[in-house]
This record gives sequence, C-alpha cells and structure tokens, in this order.
Amino acid sequence: MSNTVLKLPEESLLQVISHYQKNQIQSKNPYARFSAKLPDAVVTVYTSGKVMFQGNGAAREAAKWGAAESAVEKTVSTKGDKLPDGFAKLSVLGSDETGTGDFFGPITVAACYVPADKVELAHELGVKDSKQLTDAWMRQVAPDLREAFAHKVLTLKNDKYNKVQGQGWSQGKIKALLHNQALKHVLHEIAPEKPDAILIDQFAERGIYYKHIKEEPEIIRENVLFSTKAEGLHVSVACASIIARVAFLEEMDRMSAEAGVTLPKGAGKIVDEAAAKILLKHGEEYLKSLTKVHFANTGKAKVLAGKRRG
Ligand code: MG
Repeated sequence: MSNTVLKLPEESLLQVISHYQKNQIQSKNPYARFSAKLPDAVVTVYTSGKVMFQGNGAAREAAKWGAAESAVEKTVSTKGDKLPDGFAKLSVLGSDETGTGDFFGPITVAACYVPADKVELAHELGVKDSKQLTDAWMRQVAPDLREAFAHKVLTLKNDKYNKVQGQGWSQGKIKALLHNQALKHVLHEIAPEKPDAILIDQFAERGIYYKHIKEEPEIIRENVLFSTKAEGLHVSVACASIIARVAFLEEMDRMSAEAGVTLPKGAGKIVDEAAAKILLKHGEEYLKSLTKVHFANTGKAKVLAGKRRG
C-alpha cells in the first residue's frame, strides 16, 4: 500500500477537510481529526497537522495538496538492514519487546505474523506505529490483533528476570533469547507456510544478537532482518509491539491488584516514591519480587525509606 504524509498549515487542513467532506467516515483513531474514504484512497487528517493518504490513489490525491504549500513528505530514518522493495506489502513475521526500561513489572516480547493478504486488515484494525498510540488505545486494539494474527507473547516475570540477571545475563541476552523463542513459536504455528521475511525491531547488532543465542537448540536465522524503528517498516512489528505492550500492561494490572497499589511505569521519581512506600510496608524481599532489582531505583527507594523511618 502506498502512503504519503504531508504536513500542512491550518488553512490547508480546512481546505482538505472541506474537499473530502462528502466522503467522510468515522475513524477510531484518537489522533484522527478527520477521515475520508475514496474508492481507491483513504485520507486522514491528524491533530498533529499531518495528513496521510493511503491506498492506490494516495499519490494522486496527495499531489493536489503537496504542491500548493511547502509540504514535507515524512521520511522515517532508520538504522539497519536494507529491506527489499515493497517490503510493507510482504508477508512478514515481526517482533518487538517492552518493559526493559520499567523498574516495576516484567519484560514482554511478542512476535506476530501478518501475511500479505492481511496487511490491509491490520491497518483497518487501527494499527499504526505504536509510538503514536496511547496505552488505552492499544488495550482496545490488542484483542482484535490477537484474534486475527498468529502470534506469540512471552512474559518474563520479575523473579525469573532477577534470577537470570543475577547470574550475569545482560538485558541484551535476555531480549535475544525471548525474541528467538517467540519467533520460533510462530514459525512452528504457521508451518508449512513461511514468511517472506522476519523483521526484528533492532536492539543489538546482528553479530551480538546471534552470539547471545548461540547455545539455543533452535536458532532462527533464515530471512532475518534487523532494523530500528521497525514498527514503521512493516505492520507486523507494529502489531507485535502493541501485543507486547498490552501483555506488559496486563501483568502490571495483575501485580498492582496484588500489591494493593497502582505500580507506576518507567524509572523516574514517582517510581522511587512508590518503591519506598512498598519497602516500608512490606519489606525488601517483596519489593524485589515486583521489580528489576538491579536498577538504580532500588538504592534510591532505600534512601527515601530511610529518611521516612528516621
Ligand atoms: Mg523495540
């Protein structure tokens, strides 16, 4: 599918909206200000001032507006493997992870297979680059994605994470093992069908990735490509990213209910405060069971708790 994105000033946005008014459709995307569906193109005006044209007629429609103003076509700059032409339309198994920077909660990794004939469906379900999506929106979309696509999501809970981290495993190694495992599961599930390519949202150089998993009984190597910002390169990675994120959120919900307090995300000051409270109330072992204990937040929480006690 061909995509063109223009950034237009407000007066042009109003012209666009008025021009396509009779083809208006309701969009589920919370960032969409206006959407219209033509026989061969979908036009979406975002609250950011960007207008996206999708479909076979995208270039033709965009050209009506692109020349009028000093429009900029959006290009995503990525690092990684050179992808084949028309990559976004291929059958791709994508993978991504989340939770690696969060003191509380697990690491989750998901792999998701989107065959060529379902790329359009993924877009229709509302999948975009997950960095543009809110948690609430991803929670809404994820059940549809889990239903529609072959996928595997792995949740590495804190006890296990702390154990292997304590044995000297880096986050890179942990992630590589989980990606390999998730990809393997989906490949087995879809066999004898094979994806045209596998795309991993890159967190390590290829050589380092394979060094981490060299002792695994089954190593996925065939047609594996790496790129940063891969969720913008194929919708399968965007789907994997959403599925991983929602698995993380669901585990955080479960842990929060158990702890009787909403565990905050990230690794900032709010997290230190919450950790200090848990430390004072339930002690160090319990705090450890909820966190990635080697983060600096553990020490900061101890200092805060010490001050409260004092
Ligand atoms: Mg990633």
